[in-house]
Amino acid sequence: MKHIIEKQKKIPVMFDVDVVVCGGGTAGMAAAVCAARKGLSVVIVERTSIPGGMVTHVTYWTSDFNNKGGFAREFITKLYNDGICIKPYYNPWPIVPYFDSLIEENKIRVLYLSNVVAPIVEDGKLSGVIVESKSGRTAIKAKIVIDATGDGDVAAGAGADFKQGRKGDGAVQAISLTQMLMNYTAGQIDYKRMCEIIDKAVKKSGKKYWYPYDKWHPGTVVGTRQTLLQSVPHATGYDPTDAVQLSDAMIEMRKQAYDLFILLKENTEEFKDIEFGPFSSIPGVRESRRIVCDKMVTKADIESGAKYDDGLFTVAQHVDIHRRDRKEAPIIVTKTIPYHIPYGALLPKGLENILVVGRCIGGEHEPLASYRIIADCMAMGEAAAIAAKFAIKGKCSLRKINVGNLVKEMSALGYVQ
Ligand SMILES: Cc1cc2nc3c(=O)[nH]c(=O)nc-3n(C[C@H](O)[C@H](O)[C@H](O)COP(=O)(O)OP(=O)(O)OC[C@H]3O[C@@H](n4cnc5c(N)ncnc54)[C@H](O)[C@@H]3O)c2cc1C
Repeated sequence: MKHIIEKQKKIPVMFDVDVVVCGGGTAGMAAAVCAARKGLSVVIVERTSIPGGMVTHVTYWTSDFNNKGGFAREFITKLYNDGICIKPYYNPWPIVPYFDSLIEENKIRVLYLSNVVAPIVEDGKLSGVIVESKSGRTAIKAKIVIDATGDGDVAAGAGADFKQGRKGDGAVQAISLTQMLMNYTAGQIDYKRMCEIIDKAVKKSGKKYWYPYDKWHPGTVVGTRQTLLQSVPHATGYDPTDAVQLSDAMIEMRKQAYDLFILLKENTEEFKDIEFGPFSSIPGVRESRRIVCDKMVTKADIESGAKYDDGLFTVAQHVDIHRRDRKEAPIIVTKTIPYHIPYGALLPKGLENILVVGRCIGGEHEPLASYRIIADCMAMGEAAAIAAKFAIKGKCSLRKINVGNLVKEMSALGYVQ
């Protein structure tokens, strides 16, 4: 690749705060709200116009909340109380104003439609990030940077080592795309029946069809009468950290969605009235960079139920690998024994003043396919907020905080250790 040298440029410091949360998604929302409630000044930088990341753009299924306390418990309780969640399904859209209200109530400054493009880093010490938005290129200075981008953009940009994909060829799990379909009236259909419906439709159409994800079991979105969300499109073989490949994946998945729509509408009784709806504005990336941290959650850990002195909370979720190539089964599920996420898995090796939270924490390929779940990402966000408070109030580095007190605080919040 050719290179150019960017000219040095003076840029304005837009905010100078205790904590900048990069990415207002699943883990980022938890981190920001919990940090603000602890009296820290917080800015969230979010590239889309919507808070919640995967929670509000892509998924509609809850899991692994039983052993969680704190923010995760508050979140799921709110969903139940408001009728937004009828276990295990939830309606993602009312969560958007709910998250906005948490941002407002807790006096968090959010910058939507703003991209974190680089860390401000010297000798491995972070002191903020560079942001690009409608206001141009600006800096946000912060005592602690929380990388909640899902992809570990900030940690990787600051020089942290990272791993990606399975051993051998580095292939990551399929990327998915969520789409809304309207005027759906066929009720809940289990995936066996759905496969039969598709088989029949393919025969009737007389055309070849490759079913990208055959574990689909459609039903209307909680609280709606005729709206369906579908995430059948699955793109394998694309690197989600490569802009060109990610764009190609989007095109492939939108084609898959349209092919499925036509197949169902023209050839089945159950879907004959459905109407084509909008796509989620961001793709469902299950896996990208895993930042190398002081501790890495290993395959052996999740198979043996590893517990640590710095264990923040317990993950009780199985491993759930969506096909990494077209030859694999659509989904490979393997059991785990409930295991800890250690504090060390949030601390990128060789860097100071930064925590990673969400799916990009330190861990191997298989564990990521277990701890990436919403409840666990929220728990990581809350732990990072507590750690940030300890470091800022104690005027010490994140590695020098009293980890025993962090573990105690997580336990007091109701996170089972
Ligand atoms: C298709 C799919 C289905 C899933 N289904 C379920 C399920 O049913 N139940 C479940 O519990 N879990 C499910 N998961 C897993 C879970 O939803 C995610 O792994 C988890 O929510 C990820 O949280 P996160 O905070 O790491 O990332 P995200 O929630 O993706 O948050 C990252 C945020 O950072 C923003 N961002 C990224 N880069 C930048 C940048 N440079 N600057 C500014 N902002 C940035 C993004 O826009 C996003 O808002 C699913 C995941 C996928 C992909």
